[in-house]
Amino acid sequence: MELLTIYLDETMMTIHINANMSPVIKERVAGDAAHSFPPTGGLGLNSGLGDVHNLAYKLAAVLRGLGGDSLLDSYEFDRRNVAMVNSQQSVKNGKQIFGLLKAFGTTDSNMEVARRNLYRNIEDRHAMKDINQGIENQREHFDNLGLHIGYIYGDHRIPENASIYRPVCIRGGRLPHAWIRLYSQEETALPPIDSSYVAELSPEEVEMKRYSTLDLCTFDAFTLIADQGTALHWKQALKEMCECLPAGMSYKLKIRLAIRGSDFDLQPGKNGEDWVQLTKLYDGNAILVRPDQHILECFKFPAGYSELLRVLREHLGWDTVVPDWHKVDSVL
Ligand SMILES: Cc1cc2nc3c(=O)[nH]c(=O)nc-3n(C[C@H](O)[C@H](O)[C@H](O)COP(=O)(O)OP(=O)(O)OC[C@H]3O[C@@H](n4cnc5c(N)ncnc54)[C@H](O)[C@@H]3O)c2cc1C
Repeated sequence: MELLTIYLDETMMTIHINANMSPVIKERVAGDAAHSFPPTGGLGLNSGLGDVHNLAYKLAAVLRGLGGDSLLDSYEFDRRNVAMVNSQQSVKNGKQIFGLLKAFGTTDSNMEVARRNLYRNIEDRHAMKDINQGIENQREHFDNLGLHIGYIYGDHRIPENASIYRPVCIRGGRLPHAWIRLYSQEETALPPIDSSYVAELSPEEVEMKRYSTLDLCTFDAFTLIADQGTALHWKQALKEMCECLPAGMSYKLKIRLAIRGSDFDLQPGKNGEDWVQLTKLYDGNAILVRPDQHILECFKFPAGYSELLRVLREHLGWDTVVPDWHKVDSVL
């Protein structure tokens, strides 16, 4: 008789399937199947999309023999805390929007009564105090960029305010955005942004906002971003790293080098100046970005091929997919 044991582990993002004596199969779960939020509180779809953005490149890497089990395990490590934070905010939003509806008087199940309450309350000075407070309480519900793109993988602190988004250039954070112009003719993963529908923007501003630093990253590659002054150093480090890779691995691993000053440059203005200060590429540093646009590591000059190799090896879980790693260890 076939005995099948299926259980969702405590992370709620992995299903363990154990059939008879066969090895346990782990299935990753994303979206509402892993975490359901109150629909009135929002963030459900955003969280689900964030899950698959995180998971897709990891699955692709494992299927291509480029990544090991620990890469898939990092999915839960990354996403579980984001799901927890978002679910708490969603519950809070759900409660607060109900409070606002109560202040309007529109929670009565009889539509006519609800409508009369609404018309009366918006004319009532005392009721308007509660309504205004209720509207103010919606700020984090509708203005929550901090939750959408501010999370840092590996940092499990709960954000003090969902509306505050501070770009950071650290491991686990999303590569900070800045508007750029591209010098290389290589195609970006997505077509250029067309913001011509924004009436407030002049034609020059529309032209400046066509590409973001995030466009430097493609969905199937890691990206190393550095400055022109140290371009040769980082090019050499990548070359030496590829020479160290076990046979067969170097053609599976795709790393793009994006050099500020020759492949792209920042558009003039504060946004670009902030990016320059944040990334400090001018000190010779380099940023290694994952295919999901999150930073894998910020390297300080003069780090080289062995640091690159160590970080990629650890992240991609090469020790389980490359049996002859000891040969590589001897050259490090
Ligand atoms: C009223 C409402 C308002 C919302 N507002 C927001 C919002 O403002 N912002 C936000 O971020 N989120 C919002 N959400 C939440 C958002 O819609 C969900 O989080 C999101 O759709 C989940 O996507 P999913 O792909 O994980 O699951 P689903 O969209 O549920 O997709 C699962 C799919 O699997 C199919 N399926 C199920 N069982 C099987 C089976 N056995 N075999 C084959 N197929 C199967 C289903 O038919 C479905 O098509 C709202 C939800 C509701 C209900």
